[in-house]
Amino acid sequence: MKEGKVIILVAPSGAGKTSMARRLFQDFEQLKFSVSATTRPPREGEVEGKHYHFISDNQFNQKIEEGDFLEWEEFYGGKKYGTLRSEVDIKLKSGYFVVLDIEVKGAINVKQVYGDKALSLFIKPPSLEVLKERLEARGTEDKETLKLRLERAKEELTYADRFDQVIINDDFETAYQEVRAAVVRFMNTN
Ligand code: 5GP
Repeated sequence: MKEGKVIILVAPSGAGKTSMARRLFQDFEQLKFSVSATTRPPREGEVEGKHYHFISDNQFNQKIEEGDFLEWEEFYGGKKYGTLRSEVDIKLKSGYFVVLDIEVKGAINVKQVYGDKALSLFIKPPSLEVLKERLEARGTEDKETLKLRLERAKEELTYADRFDQVIINDDFETAYQEVRAAVVRFMNTN
């Protein structure tokens, strides 16, 4: 069987990445989501094993020691997030295109590992002001976390040019069609 490839979606929180990913999964049955491990607590509606593997800090550290992660990062006041090798490799071997919803530095690391076998897309909000409004409207963060996320977003935006393609999410549908076209092109190249 032909091995699959990796699709990395990156966007500062609130730039619309989760909705993009949802649409992609509706449109392409050959996609599988890479479920990351994290030490942050689940948000309302999040399901263990579907959105994340929610694990303790001790469990996370053990996985680091055992080399289970393709990459991992620590942020937002000490919370860790990591891509499990097992999640990605099994799915690739089964011929699936594996979608990673991770942050900038992890994405750059994964792109380095997979090279042409990975497509890295950076979804950019039209401006930081719009991003702030979207995060406030979502209402999932307290004031301090919101501030941290915005600071992080500002930093993340400086890495955009390291990605295969940058897509501005002003109008969702327009941006989604750009993402979709990039994915189709990538799927059709060897
Ligand atoms: P959230 O807490 O909103 O689910 O995620 C916060 C950030 O962590 C998002 O930018 C998300 O893409 C990123 N993230 C999720 N999983 C991973 C991972 O496995 N590795 C890295 N580096 N970032 C991740």
